[in-house]
Amino acid sequence: MYVNLFDSHVHSDNSHDGEHSITFLCENAQQKDLMGLCITDHYEMELNEAQADICLRNSFIETGKSRQAFDNRLLVMSGIELGQATRNFQKADRLLNRYRFDFVIGSLHCIRDMDDFAYIDFSGLNVELILQRYFEEMLELCQWGGFDTLAHMTYPLRYIIGKYQIPVDMKPYEEVIREILKTLADKNLALEINTAGLRREIGQTSPTLEYVKLFRELGGELLTFGSDAHRAQDLGAGLDVAIDMAKEAGFSHFAFYKKREPRMLRLM
Ligand SMILES: [Zn+2]
Ligand SMILES: [Zn+2]
Repeated sequence: MYVNLFDSHVHSDNSHDGEHSITFLCENAQQKDLMGLCITDHYEMELNEAQADICLRNSFIETGKSRQAFDNRLLVMSGIELGQATRNFQKADRLLNRYRFDFVIGSLHCIRDMDDFAYIDFSGLNVELILQRYFEEMLELCQWGGFDTLAHMTYPLRYIIGKYQIPVDMKPYEEVIREILKTLADKNLALEINTAGLRREIGQTSPTLEYVKLFRELGGELLTFGSDAHRAQDLGAGLDVAIDMAKEAGFSHFAFYKKREPRMLRLM
């Protein structure tokens, strides 16, 4: 049923908020007829380094074991969701050089001197200023470009619009978002269609169709799809929506990554 369906953004219990082991996730992915998945556990740059290193090492080793165990039945890739590389690009480069990841997701879950957007009470805050700073920091992240795909480009809206029901006018950020997407396209980096929002209050992907279209117009050629599943039930969820969206934006293929190189799959 899911021919050519690859989930490039999946968390195991090596992430603080993940529920299931990598073996269990792979078993479920196979049952759901996915052709493959990439395990992308969290590494947040601002957190305790020793602790984060242990989680990452476990994730990397366990993924390797599952790759062998599921050989010929499921493609299992080793990835990382690297949060806030902007805190220290040199440290991020060193970290990525220590492991032979197949795939690196670049994320921004918080801006400098603020908590993760998931934990912020936005009522009474200057949302416009926060979003301006968020997109400017995201542009810095893209200019560094040490990742393969840019994750959930409109992540804060999950909480600002979804949880706090604060309306957001995107007009003030048009220019910087354009610059972000153009930088990705010029560097031949991918844009992720993250489908987690479809399972949340906001009820939409991140980013939405208009930005996927704009990415295409600006010369973007690489898209990745991620359910951002933190438990087996959510594996592959919403990827059908991502496929339709990619087609509507004018793409004929999407990508998954092996050894940091895109592998193109036709959109069926
Ligand atoms: Zn994330
Ligand atoms: Zn994630």
